[in-house]
Amino acid sequence: MVELLMPVPLSPFVQETLATRHTLHKLWEAPDEGAFLRSKAGDIGAIVTGAGILVDGRAKAIDAAFIDLFPNLQLIANHGVGYDHIDAAHAAQRGILVTNTPDVLTDETADTAMGLLLNAVRRFSAAERYLLDGKWETAPFPLTASLRGMTLGILGLGRIGKAIAHRAEAFGMSIAYCGRHRQDDVPHAFFTTPRELAAASDVLLVAAPGGPETRHIVDAGVLGALGPDGFLINIARGSLVDEDALLDALEHRRIAGAGLDVFPSEPHVNPRFLQLGEVVLFPHVGSGTHRTRRDMALLLVENIDRWAKGDAPPSLVAESRLVRGGKR
Ligand code: NAP
Repeated sequence: MVELLMPVPLSPFVQETLATRHTLHKLWEAPDEGAFLRSKAGDIGAIVTGAGILVDGRAKAIDAAFIDLFPNLQLIANHGVGYDHIDAAHAAQRGILVTNTPDVLTDETADTAMGLLLNAVRRFSAAERYLLDGKWETAPFPLTASLRGMTLGILGLGRIGKAIAHRAEAFGMSIAYCGRHRQDDVPHAFFTTPRELAAASDVLLVAAPGGPETRHIVDAGVLGALGPDGFLINIARGSLVDEDALLDALEHRRIAGAGLDVFPSEPHVNPRFLQLGEVVLFPHVGSGTHRTRRDMALLLVENIDRWAKGDAPPSLVAESRLVRGGKR
């Protein structure tokens, strides 16, 4: 049995499964968090966490200062593929492994991206509101743009970006992409900067990881290059888009519309978005189905169980792959 610390409440399934195999400490239940950490930090071998989960209205960043509270920490297991709330580079320096849950959520998140894309371009949410408001009785809903012949520019053509590209091609869209590297096995047009990609795209879709490197990678210049007929879709993290620049562009019709699943201060949504007709807003539901959340939970548990047995966890993040050969 190893001692696990869960700083934020993951699903009851995860909590129950881990509690039957290991000693699970639930930090949010501690009457005095500071006292708990002072007395138990030395016993904790693994932290089990997830992005965007709040306790008392605060997200729990697993930053260097938090990691350093635990002298015997060996593993940080994340529920989710995005791990920008974890300082994985600092963990690697300390020889601590970080795992995430890739692949099992790719299709679900790509479906959600297509939902945002269809809703933003064809204005389906607005059309439904129009019907519910009784406006159809007086006039038909206005015509919209069409996906046919549009270019979808994908910023971050990874697992999820490729699954979105596959779907978008079936809708008659051409694909272009931008990333830090050109991918030789990919037939789509490659652009070296987000601004060049935006200028070549009708829809710019953000699917790169969050973190300091990509913060505000979509700024006023990129939105300007996307232009008044262009749409922005963000399925990645709120931090990648300069929110003030986006609101400004939408309010002044410098872009045609946006579809957002993620926000910088979730679950708080800037009220300026709520005044806009040309946005589709989802409450971070990218991977949110029973089936996928269960698969994510099972992979999270497998990562922990394999580490607890002294084996290499199956889904180490890039920063951890050189840590002691991925072994405990
Ligand atoms: P992935 O396979 O690692 O793909 C990430 C892609 O981003 C790679 O192609 C990478 O290509 C590119 N990239 C990395 N840094 C970049 C940079 N600085 N500029 C431009 N491109 C960059 O990850 P994934 O599984 O597709 O997941 C992508 C992200 O989606 C996650 O990190 C997560 O935050 C988000 N996500 C959101 C939800 C949701 O519910 N909304 C669900 C799942 C995932 P290069 O290496 O060539 O740059």
